[in-house]
Amino acid sequence: MDRWSKGRVMLVGDAAYCASPASGQGTSLAIVGAYVLAGELADGGGADGYERELRDFVTANQALAEANLKGMVIPSRLALWIQITMIKLLPHLPGRDRMVERIAGPIHRAANAISLKNYVE
Ligand SMILES: Cc1cc2nc3c(=O)[nH]c(=O)nc-3n(C[C@H](O)[C@H](O)[C@H](O)COP(=O)(O)OP(=O)(O)OC[C@H]3O[C@@H](n4cnc5c(N)ncnc54)[C@H](O)[C@@H]3O)c2cc1C
Repeated sequence: MDRWSKGRVMLVGDAAYCASPASGQGTSLAIVGAYVLAGELADGGGADGYERELRDFVTANQALAEANLKGMVIPSRLALWIQITMIKLLPHLPGRDRMVERIAGPIHRAANAISLKNYVE
């Protein structure tokens, strides 16, 4: 949504920025979002502060879903067999670290695309 609040009503988690199960990040978004919303309300940043702190993080994590969906919808039994076999073989393949980085790198980058403020101090 363009905006996650209206007046005194503020949305958090899936209600505001559901990234779809394909992102694998919905729970993180909900927890981080709740932390930032509570912190900004306590700190005087209010709804604008909440959006400012969180918007880029949400966008980065939502973008994972579209990319992941292509790999989640497996078109045939043969393609499924190849994928399962590749996963089994992966620990034994040369260059496995690079392959894992190619798969997990975008997730790590999106998951860390926010520097959380310490609102307690
Ligand atoms: C199949 C599937 C797989 C997923 N896999 C992952 C994953 O691997 N990793 C990940 O991070 N996320 C995953 N997610 C997403 C994750 O579950 C959600 O993003 C996360 O639960 C959102 O939390 P939330 O608190 O915003 O909403 P919810 O967890 O949906 O909580 C909303 C709550 O509000 C309640 N409610 C609704 N209407 C009312 C009402 N009128 N009155 C009172 N209560 C009401 C609901 O019953 C519910 O308990 C997956 C989701 C699905 C569906």
